[in-house]
Amino acid sequence: MNKTYRFDTMADLVALAEAEDISLGEVALRHEVALGQLDRDEVLAAMRTRWATMKQSMEVGLAAPQKTMGGLSHGAGQMMAGHRPVLSDAIATGVMARALAVNECSAAMRRIVAAPTAGSSGILPASLWGAQQRLGCEDEAVVMALLAAAALGMVMANRATISGAQGGCMAEVGVSAAMAAGAMAEMAGAPPDVAVHAMALALKNTLGLVCDPIGGYVEVPCIKRNAIFAIHATTAAEMALAGIRSFVPADQVIAAMKEIGDAMPKKLKETSQGGLATTLIGLEVMARRPRVDHVQG
Ligand code: SF4
Repeated sequence: MNKTYRFDTMADLVALAEAEDISLGEVALRHEVALGQLDRDEVLAAMRTRWATMKQSMEVGLAAPQKTMGGLSHGAGQMMAGHRPVLSDAIATGVMARALAVNECSAAMRRIVAAPTAGSSGILPASLWGAQQRLGCEDEAVVMALLAAAALGMVMANRATISGAQGGCMAEVGVSAAMAAGAMAEMAGAPPDVAVHAMALALKNTLGLVCDPIGGYVEVPCIKRNAIFAIHATTAAEMALAGIRSFVPADQVIAAMKEIGDAMPKKLKETSQGGLATTLIGLEVMARRPRVDHVQG
Protein backbone atom coordinates (compact mmCIF):
# COMPACT_ATOMS: atom_id res chain seq x y z
CA MET A 1 0.00 0.00 0.00
CA ASN A 2 1.31 3.44 -0.91
CA LYS A 3 1.53 5.24 2.43
CA THR A 4 1.88 8.71 0.99
CA TYR A 5 -0.75 8.56 -1.75
CA ARG A 6 1.44 11.02 -3.61
CA PHE A 7 0.37 11.96 -7.13
CA ASP A 8 2.05 14.43 -9.46
CA THR A 9 0.08 13.69 -12.60
CA MET A 10 -3.39 12.59 -13.61
CA ALA A 11 -1.86 9.28 -14.66
CA ASP A 12 -0.46 8.84 -11.12
CA LEU A 13 -3.84 9.70 -9.65
CA VAL A 14 -5.70 7.16 -11.78
CA ALA A 15 -3.02 4.50 -11.15
CA LEU A 16 -3.29 5.00 -7.38
CA ALA A 17 -7.07 4.76 -7.47
CA GLU A 18 -7.06 1.70 -9.70
CA ALA A 19 -4.34 -0.09 -7.72
CA GLU A 20 -6.49 0.00 -4.59
CA ASP A 21 -9.87 0.04 -6.29
CA ILE A 22 -10.81 3.32 -4.69
CA SER A 23 -12.28 6.57 -5.99
CA LEU A 24 -10.36 9.76 -6.77
CA GLY A 25 -12.04 11.31 -3.75
CA GLU A 26 -10.77 8.49 -1.55
CA VAL A 27 -7.23 8.96 -2.91
CA ALA A 28 -7.45 12.64 -2.02
CA LEU A 29 -8.74 11.80 1.44
CA ARG A 30 -5.95 9.29 2.10
CA HIS A 31 -3.41 11.76 0.71
CA GLU A 32 -4.57 14.41 3.20
CA VAL A 33 -4.42 11.93 6.08
CA ALA A 34 -0.95 10.80 4.97
CA LEU A 35 0.27 14.40 5.27
CA GLY A 36 -0.10 13.83 8.98
CA GLN A 37 -1.94 16.97 10.05
CA LEU A 38 -5.49 15.63 10.20
CA ASP A 39 -7.14 12.28 10.65
CA ARG A 40 -9.79 10.92 8.33
CA ASP A 41 -12.75 12.30 10.28
CA GLU A 42 -11.15 15.73 10.51
CA VAL A 43 -10.55 15.89 6.76
CA LEU A 44 -14.14 14.90 6.11
CA ALA A 45 -15.38 17.44 8.66
CA ALA A 46 -13.30 20.16 6.99
CA MET A 47 -14.78 19.30 3.61
CA ARG A 48 -18.30 19.25 5.04
CA THR A 49 -17.66 22.78 6.27
CA ARG A 50 -16.59 23.82 2.75
CA TRP A 51 -19.80 22.36 1.30
CA ALA A 52 -21.86 24.13 3.97
CA THR A 53 -20.16 27.43 3.07
CA MET A 54 -20.76 26.79 -0.62
CA LYS A 55 -24.44 26.10 0.03
CA GLN A 56 -24.68 29.25 2.12
CA SER A 57 -23.12 31.35 -0.65
CA MET A 58 -25.64 29.92 -3.13
CA GLU A 59 -28.50 30.82 -0.78
CA VAL A 60 -27.18 34.31 -0.03
CA GLY A 61 -26.69 35.09 -3.70
CA LEU A 62 -30.15 33.86 -4.59
CA ALA A 63 -31.88 35.59 -1.69
CA ALA A 64 -31.01 39.14 -2.74
CA PRO A 65 -29.09 40.98 -5.45
CA GLN A 66 -25.55 41.59 -4.28
CA LYS A 67 -23.90 45.00 -4.37
CA THR A 68 -20.72 44.22 -6.24
CA MET A 69 -17.54 46.28 -5.97
CA GLY A 70 -17.71 47.52 -9.54
CA GLY A 71 -21.48 47.69 -9.80
CA LEU A 72 -21.34 45.88 -13.14
CA SER A 73 -23.66 43.05 -12.13
CA HIS A 74 -26.76 43.11 -10.00
CA GLY A 75 -29.15 40.28 -9.28
CA ALA A 76 -28.24 38.00 -12.20
CA GLY A 77 -28.59 34.91 -10.01
CA GLN A 78 -32.02 35.95 -8.80
CA MET A 79 -33.12 36.77 -12.34
CA MET A 80 -32.05 33.35 -13.55
CA ALA A 81 -33.73 31.62 -10.61
CA GLY A 82 -37.00 33.33 -11.45
CA HIS A 83 -36.83 32.36 -15.10
CA ARG A 84 -39.01 29.52 -16.37
CA PRO A 85 -36.78 27.31 -18.54
CA VAL A 86 -37.49 27.53 -22.24
CA LEU A 87 -34.60 25.64 -23.82
CA SER A 88 -33.30 23.57 -20.92
CA ASP A 89 -34.80 22.38 -17.63
CA ALA A 90 -35.22 23.59 -14.08
CA ILE A 91 -32.09 21.88 -12.79
CA ALA A 92 -29.95 23.34 -15.58
CA THR A 93 -31.28 26.83 -14.95
CA GLY A 94 -30.85 26.20 -11.22
CA VAL A 95 -27.17 25.45 -11.88
CA MET A 96 -26.83 28.67 -13.89
CA ALA A 97 -28.62 30.68 -11.19
CA ARG A 98 -26.39 29.34 -8.44
CA ALA A 99 -23.17 29.87 -10.37
CA LEU A 100 -24.22 33.48 -10.98
CA ALA A 101 -25.33 33.91 -7.37
CA VAL A 102 -22.08 32.67 -5.85
CA ASN A 103 -19.92 34.70 -8.18
CA GLU A 104 -21.96 37.81 -7.48
CA CYS A 105 -21.36 37.14 -3.78
CA SER A 106 -17.67 36.89 -4.55
CA ALA A 107 -17.71 40.20 -6.40
CA ALA A 108 -19.54 41.72 -3.43
CA MET A 109 -16.85 40.43 -1.05
CA ARG A 110 -19.26 38.01 0.60
CA ARG A 111 -18.09 34.66 1.93
CA ILE A 112 -17.40 32.08 -0.75
CA VAL A 113 -15.10 29.08 -1.19
CA ALA A 114 -12.43 29.73 -3.81
CA ALA A 115 -12.56 26.71 -6.09
CA PRO A 116 -9.90 27.09 -7.26
CA THR A 117 -10.15 30.91 -7.20
CA ALA A 118 -12.71 33.51 -6.15
CA GLY A 119 -13.31 34.49 -9.77
CA SER A 120 -14.31 30.92 -10.60
CA SER A 121 -16.02 30.18 -7.29
CA GLY A 122 -19.52 29.63 -8.69
CA ILE A 123 -18.79 26.70 -10.97
CA LEU A 124 -18.04 23.89 -8.53
CA PRO A 125 -20.86 24.48 -6.00
CA ALA A 126 -23.45 25.05 -8.72
CA SER A 127 -22.34 22.00 -10.69
CA LEU A 128 -22.34 19.74 -7.66
CA TRP A 129 -25.72 21.10 -6.58
CA GLY A 130 -27.06 20.16 -10.02
CA ALA A 131 -25.52 16.70 -9.89
CA GLN A 132 -26.96 16.16 -6.42
CA GLN A 133 -30.42 17.14 -7.64
CA ARG A 134 -30.23 14.79 -10.60
CA LEU A 135 -28.68 11.86 -8.75
CA GLY A 136 -30.66 12.31 -5.53
CA CYS A 137 -27.60 11.67 -3.40
CA GLU A 138 -26.76 12.73 0.15
CA ASP A 139 -24.34 15.48 1.14
CA GLU A 140 -21.70 12.85 1.94
CA ALA A 141 -21.47 12.00 -1.76
CA VAL A 142 -20.93 15.69 -2.50
CA VAL A 143 -18.20 15.81 0.14
CA MET A 144 -16.37 12.93 -1.59
CA ALA A 145 -16.88 14.68 -4.94
CA LEU A 146 -15.30 17.81 -3.48
CA LEU A 147 -12.30 15.72 -2.49
CA ALA A 148 -12.09 14.35 -6.04
CA ALA A 149 -12.27 17.91 -7.37
CA ALA A 150 -9.49 18.91 -4.98
CA ALA A 151 -7.23 16.11 -6.24
CA LEU A 152 -7.82 17.11 -9.86
CA GLY A 153 -7.28 20.78 -9.07
CA MET A 154 -4.08 20.05 -7.21
CA VAL A 155 -2.52 18.34 -10.21
CA MET A 156 -3.53 21.20 -12.53
CA ALA A 157 -2.16 23.76 -10.05
CA ASN A 158 1.13 21.93 -9.66
CA ARG A 159 1.66 21.06 -13.33
CA ALA A 160 0.42 24.36 -14.77
CA THR A 161 -1.28 27.18 -12.88
CA ILE A 162 -4.59 28.26 -11.38
CA SER A 163 -3.85 31.95 -11.69
CA GLY A 164 -5.50 34.15 -14.31
CA ALA A 165 -2.48 36.45 -14.11
CA GLN A 166 -0.25 33.57 -15.14
CA GLY A 167 -2.39 31.51 -17.46
CA GLY A 168 -5.47 33.51 -18.43
CA CYS A 169 -9.01 32.51 -17.60
CA MET A 170 -8.50 28.91 -18.71
CA ALA A 171 -6.40 28.59 -15.54
CA GLU A 172 -9.28 29.77 -13.36
CA VAL A 173 -12.62 29.06 -15.00
CA GLY A 174 -11.14 26.30 -17.16
CA VAL A 175 -9.59 24.52 -14.20
CA SER A 176 -12.74 24.98 -12.14
CA ALA A 177 -14.90 23.49 -14.90
CA ALA A 178 -12.44 20.60 -15.23
CA MET A 179 -12.55 19.96 -11.48
CA ALA A 180 -16.34 20.04 -11.56
CA ALA A 181 -16.58 17.75 -14.58
CA GLY A 182 -14.36 15.08 -13.05
CA ALA A 183 -16.10 15.34 -9.69
CA MET A 184 -19.57 15.08 -11.22
CA ALA A 185 -18.58 12.10 -13.34
CA GLU A 186 -17.27 10.33 -10.26
CA MET A 187 -20.42 11.26 -8.34
CA ALA A 188 -22.43 9.62 -11.11
CA GLY A 189 -20.44 6.41 -10.70
CA ALA A 190 -17.72 6.79 -13.31
CA PRO A 191 -14.47 4.93 -12.62
CA PRO A 192 -11.34 7.06 -12.05
CA ASP A 193 -10.07 6.99 -15.65
CA VAL A 194 -13.46 8.12 -16.95
CA ALA A 195 -13.65 10.94 -14.40
CA VAL A 196 -10.23 12.10 -15.59
CA HIS A 197 -11.44 12.03 -19.19
CA ALA A 198 -14.33 14.28 -18.10
CA MET A 199 -11.78 16.62 -16.54
CA ALA A 200 -9.68 16.59 -19.72
CA LEU A 201 -12.68 17.21 -21.98
CA ALA A 202 -13.67 20.22 -19.90
CA LEU A 203 -10.19 21.73 -19.68
CA LYS A 204 -9.32 21.09 -23.32
CA ASN A 205 -12.27 23.11 -24.46
CA THR A 206 -11.32 26.16 -22.46
CA LEU A 207 -7.77 26.41 -23.81
CA GLY A 208 -6.97 29.93 -24.95
CA LEU A 209 -9.60 31.57 -22.75
CA VAL A 210 -8.17 34.95 -21.84
CA CYS A 211 -8.52 37.01 -18.68
CA ASP A 212 -9.70 40.51 -19.58
CA PRO A 213 -11.95 41.78 -16.79
CA ILE A 214 -13.48 45.19 -17.39
CA GLY A 215 -12.11 47.85 -15.11
CA GLY A 216 -10.12 45.29 -13.19
CA TYR A 217 -13.27 44.16 -11.42
CA VAL A 218 -13.88 40.42 -11.27
CA GLU A 219 -17.36 40.91 -12.69
CA VAL A 220 -17.43 41.16 -16.49
CA PRO A 221 -17.02 38.61 -18.01
CA CYS A 222 -16.40 36.57 -14.87
CA ILE A 223 -19.85 36.32 -13.28
CA LYS A 224 -21.77 35.16 -16.35
CA ARG A 225 -18.82 33.03 -17.41
CA ASN A 226 -19.29 30.98 -14.23
CA ALA A 227 -22.83 30.03 -15.28
CA ILE A 228 -21.79 29.20 -18.81
CA PHE A 229 -18.86 27.05 -17.74
CA ALA A 230 -20.87 25.22 -15.08
CA ILE A 231 -22.98 23.93 -17.96
CA HIS A 232 -19.80 23.27 -19.95
CA ALA A 233 -18.61 21.08 -17.04
CA THR A 234 -21.87 19.15 -17.07
CA THR A 235 -21.51 18.60 -20.82
CA ALA A 236 -17.98 17.24 -20.38
CA ALA A 237 -19.08 14.91 -17.57
CA GLU A 238 -22.07 13.68 -19.56
CA MET A 239 -19.90 13.04 -22.62
CA ALA A 240 -17.43 11.01 -20.55
CA LEU A 241 -20.31 9.02 -19.04
CA ALA A 242 -21.52 8.34 -22.58
CA GLY A 243 -18.17 6.72 -23.37
CA ILE A 244 -16.61 9.66 -25.21
CA ARG A 245 -12.92 10.01 -24.41
CA SER A 246 -10.52 12.91 -24.68
CA PHE A 247 -8.26 12.21 -27.67
CA VAL A 248 -5.48 14.09 -25.89
CA PRO A 249 -4.58 12.50 -22.53
CA ALA A 250 -5.31 14.68 -19.50
CA ASP A 251 -1.68 15.30 -18.60
CA GLN A 252 -0.96 16.45 -22.15
CA VAL A 253 -3.95 18.80 -22.02
CA ILE A 254 -2.52 20.30 -18.84
CA ALA A 255 0.89 20.69 -20.52
CA ALA A 256 -0.82 22.44 -23.43
CA MET A 257 -2.58 24.78 -20.99
CA LYS A 258 0.79 25.68 -19.49
CA GLU A 259 2.33 26.30 -22.91
CA ILE A 260 -0.59 28.45 -24.06
CA GLY A 261 -0.62 30.39 -20.80
CA ASP A 262 3.09 31.12 -21.09
CA ALA A 263 2.62 32.32 -24.67
CA MET A 264 -0.44 34.46 -23.90
CA PRO A 265 0.22 38.20 -24.09
CA LYS A 266 0.41 39.97 -20.76
CA LYS A 267 -2.43 42.28 -21.74
CA LEU A 268 -4.78 39.27 -21.69
CA LYS A 269 -3.65 37.99 -18.31
CA GLU A 270 -5.61 39.91 -15.67
CA THR A 271 -4.10 43.30 -16.46
CA SER A 272 -7.30 44.69 -18.02
CA GLN A 273 -5.19 46.12 -20.85
CA GLY A 274 -6.82 44.25 -23.70
CA GLY A 275 -9.77 42.21 -24.93
CA LEU A 276 -13.13 43.02 -23.33
CA ALA A 277 -11.46 45.44 -20.93
CA THR A 278 -10.48 47.75 -23.78
CA THR A 279 -13.69 47.58 -25.79
CA LEU A 280 -15.48 50.91 -26.08
CA ILE A 281 -17.75 50.07 -23.18
CA GLY A 282 -14.84 48.66 -21.19
CA LEU A 283 -12.94 51.90 -21.62
CA GLU A 284 -16.04 53.89 -20.64
CA VAL A 285 -16.24 51.92 -17.40
CA MET A 286 -12.56 52.50 -16.84
CA ALA A 287 -13.00 56.24 -17.37
CA ARG A 288 -15.95 56.37 -14.97
CA ARG A 289 -14.26 54.44 -12.26
CA PRO A 290 -10.68 54.29 -11.15
CA ARG A 291 -9.19 50.99 -12.22
CA VAL A 292 -8.71 48.69 -9.26
CA ASP A 293 -5.81 46.36 -9.07
CA HIS A 294 -6.99 42.88 -8.52
CA VAL A 295 -8.34 42.18 -5.10
CA GLN A 296 -9.29 38.67 -6.11
CA GLY A 297 -9.12 36.59 -9.22
S1 SF4 B 1 -11.71 36.69 -16.64
FE1 SF4 B 1 -9.92 36.76 -15.28
S2 SF4 B 1 -10.65 37.62 -13.34
FE2 SF4 B 1 -12.46 36.92 -14.52
S3 SF4 B 1 -12.80 34.80 -13.79
FE3 SF4 B 1 -11.53 34.68 -15.64
S4 SF4 B 1 -9.44 34.63 -14.79
FE4 SF4 B 1 -10.74 35.37 -13.13
